[in-house]
Amino acid sequence: MKNYLAYLECPKCNKRYVPSQLVNLCDCGTPVLVRYDLESLKKEFDPSVWQERSKGLWRYRELLPVRDDGNIVSLGEGGTPVINMPRLGNRFGVAGLDLKDEGLSPTGTFKARGAAVGVSMAKELGARALAMPTAGNAGAAWAAYSARARMKMVVAMPADAPATTQAECVAYGADTYLVEGLISDAGKVIKEACKKHGWFEVATLKEPYRIEGKKTMGLEIWQDYGEDLPDAIIYPTGGGVGLIGMWKAFKELKELGWLKGPLPKMVAVQAEGCSPIVTAYREGKNKAEFHKGAHTLAAGIRVPSALGDFLVLDAVRSSGGTAVSVTDDEILDAWNMVSREEGLLICPEGAAAVKAAEKILEMGVVSADDTILILNTGAGMKYTELLKAKARKLEEGEIPE
Ligand SMILES: *Cc1c(COP(=O)(O)O)cnc(C)c1O
Ligand SMILES: [Zn+2]
Repeated sequence: MKNYLAYLECPKCNKRYVPSQLVNLCDCGTPVLVRYDLESLKKEFDPSVWQERSKGLWRYRELLPVRDDGNIVSLGEGGTPVINMPRLGNRFGVAGLDLKDEGLSPTGTFKARGAAVGVSMAKELGARALAMPTAGNAGAAWAAYSARARMKMVVAMPADAPATTQAECVAYGADTYLVEGLISDAGKVIKEACKKHGWFEVATLKEPYRIEGKKTMGLEIWQDYGEDLPDAIIYPTGGGVGLIGMWKAFKELKELGWLKGPLPKMVAVQAEGCSPIVTAYREGKNKAEFHKGAHTLAAGIRVPSALGDFLVLDAVRSSGGTAVSVTDDEILDAWNMVSREEGLLICPEGAAAVKAAEKILEMGVVSADDTILILNTGAGMKYTELLKAKARKLEEGEIPE
């Protein structure tokens, strides 16, 4: 299989790095992006081949960085379905309301995509031990894939990270630590430990390959919808990797000449209690300020500061999208509504995106005859303790009415 990986590039200062070494940030402190030889790929490859291969992330390996297939670490990630939500669409007054269900991924969230490519590359480039701060789900995914790769994994997470994710990390054999505070506090501990022990730091956007894994959501959306992409894609934004990744996929497909129609409006949704990117968007800035006192029940998007904020803001603006925030009460309402009306137990982050669909319709960002695609980034089953959904105990001798 031919590989088209060309070099790594800083999107700020344009400095290039050879891809055959472990790289964290650019010398200027910016996340680096993976670049491919798209010219050769365009000449030599027919993308209909992707459709013929079995479903999943690795069918796109010509646009992925792994050079030797022997280094692929896989648990069956990718290939998630797009499910129509006709009743909610009707209620919101929009022609098409679809949901891409990443809850069906290994470890129950789309973090599996980033972990699959990130761990595979760490293996290919000879890393011995990986370490990361996490809000919970990334740690669980990376712990699973590094267990599969037989690689040491160290995870630090907020002490109040969802119990399921804490247990997952431990179950996969990762060295798992709880930290008082937020993911940013866990980040400080990990950074120091990496410096001390020489572990490879794989925090969000501190290595270039997680984006490549999440990029495959964009490739799948293009294969599912063809030229007629959704008019808007709504993404629950923490570090923003999924949104940056999908946008990168669309741009690469454009450059390859394989995507000709208009691109979707990219919409970032955050929780009101933690909305640094929404604030920056409203204020016309291209960098976000640290969100002090961050709080929301949607733990996956409780990220007060993101290294890739400027990339998210650029994708949102250049696509004609927007950034909106929703309250925790709105998240809870939408969450319950989706499970009752559509039979889908999504995650609270996905529920934030559902509420945002209603908001961007009201704002006129999309119109009634458009199609909106919501990214449900994880499985609701990981968060049942938040649902407060209690069954009723039958009294002695009572029968159900
Ligand atoms: C991590 C996560 C997000 C946010 O992803 P980013 O790439 O950090 O923006 C959204 N939803 C869930 C369920 C997550 O675990
Ligand atoms: Zn740079």
